[in-house]
Amino acid sequence: MIYFDNAASSMPHPNAVDFTSSLGNPSSYHQAGQVSCNVINQSRKLLGEVFGGEPDNYYFTSGATESANLIIQGYCRFLKQRESHRNEIIVSAIEHPAVYNTVEAMGRLGFKVHVLGVDSCGIIDFQALDSLLNNNTALVCIMGVNNETGVIQPINDIFNLVKGKDNNIVTVCDAVQYLTKVEESLDLSSIDCFFASGHKIGASKGIVFFYLDEHVTLMPLFIGGEQEGGLRPGTENLYGIESLTRALNEYIQFGHKHNLHVRQLKKRLLSQLNSSDINFRLNTQYAPSSDYVLSIAFIDRDAGQLVNFLARKGVCISRGSACSSISNKSSRVLSAMQLERSVINSTIRVSFSYYNSLDEVDKFCEYIEAFHQVLLEQDVSVSM
Ligand code: PLP
Repeated sequence: MIYFDNAASSMPHPNAVDFTSSLGNPSSYHQAGQVSCNVINQSRKLLGEVFGGEPDNYYFTSGATESANLIIQGYCRFLKQRESHRNEIIVSAIEHPAVYNTVEAMGRLGFKVHVLGVDSCGIIDFQALDSLLNNNTALVCIMGVNNETGVIQPINDIFNLVKGKDNNIVTVCDAVQYLTKVEESLDLSSIDCFFASGHKIGASKGIVFFYLDEHVTLMPLFIGGEQEGGLRPGTENLYGIESLTRALNEYIQFGHKHNLHVRQLKKRLLSQLNSSDINFRLNTQYAPSSDYVLSIAFIDRDAGQLVNFLARKGVCISRGSACSSISNKSSRVLSAMQLERSVINSTIRVSFSYYNSLDEVDKFCEYIEAFHQVLLEQDVSVSM
């Protein structure tokens, strides 16, 4: 099997999933409980060291979707309760549904939602953002790296612009495909909340951390105990938290090497395709884009057919985000980039991890050539 769907869920680091978690409930006062509690404290400490802020700024949840909901809904519900005049939200048109649909739902709760467009490479429109900001703006939600295209937003500049206009606007960054994969750190002087997911950085599924500036108040979505400062009650996912710590330690030690390796994979894929006769297009064009996620249109070819062809060869890729792969709808992200329908219909997503090899890239390119060959032969036989 060739696994090129790491943006959906990445290959875990063996060391981050092959261990036994400690026994006690972290809230218990006895020795076993305190051992577990210490695992969580160490993880928060490490998060602060790696991504900035203090350990107390970090919270754990079960998923990026849950974190996005807790941050967005939690803040909007707080504003509602306060009867705040701030009732407008700006969201980019290319957010993951975890953010986009949550913001849309806040629209139904009475918030005015502004969808911020992007250019044909997927970069948000600065001027439009600037003109949308006003005294009623409550939240601005913009992702660091898009999960379908890999485009990298100039995220620190974007949020500096927002905070420069009004420091009380709360800024939210979905950093799921950004952290550990893009060298530039998030600037916490202009980002109030960000979240990232364990299973996209080599840890187990079911664990996510989010950063929350201490000046931002959220209303919890669940009612229960005091865990996570009461923001996310319930016994912590100790296995997941330890897995995350282990994946982060892997990143501290080898992250740079891993990123260089993945850069080579992307380079190899593009150079192989460039040196073939295949007509393709990198949808992010000249915009900065992640080495981990590539959105490629094979012009005049049906992406669904290609994905099936590759699946029969044992290659795992998808057309776009995993959570929309069951629906037949056209990609909202690619549509926001105003790509022609024919380009959208011929687009696949290839996403790498450190565990992929150059040989796998070569094999993949051979399969792409074979697919084109089959179709060319069909074209010839139809035209005869
Ligand atoms: N945000 C981004 C950028 C993602 O890529 C994903 C998952 O693919 C999510 C949010 C949602 O993550 P989850 O499905 O783990 O909640």
